[in-house]
Amino acid sequence: MGRQSQGTRKQYECICQTCGERFFVPDPGQQRSRRYCSIACYAASRWRSQENLRNQKIYELRSAGQTLGDIAKQYGVSKERVRQICNQEARRLERQSSVVDTLVPLA
Ligand SMILES: [Zn+2]
Repeated sequence: MGRQSQGTRKQYECICQTCGERFFVPDPGQQRSRRYCSIACYAASRWRSQENLRNQKIYELRSAGQTLGDIAKQYGVSKERVRQICNQEARRLERQSSVVDTLVPLA
């Protein structure tokens, strides 16, 4: 019914979110949902969310009064990086709390 003949096997191009490699899948549904070319790249993306956890921890330490220098030494990153992470986290938490506010009914 107006569809392509079975003979031509169309491949749909995807770009891996981790390594940036192009890869191909057999249908457009997969093209939309596949984000990674391989299990290894998927695992790497999970690792990145562990990094998010670390950033959260760094932000907590900073909120608890530790200096940028202390935290930097502890995590083996630069002071500037710690400051960036804290700013990012503050913004992320702000966004989260504004979501929570809309969920909590006002008494
Ligand atoms: Zn990849």
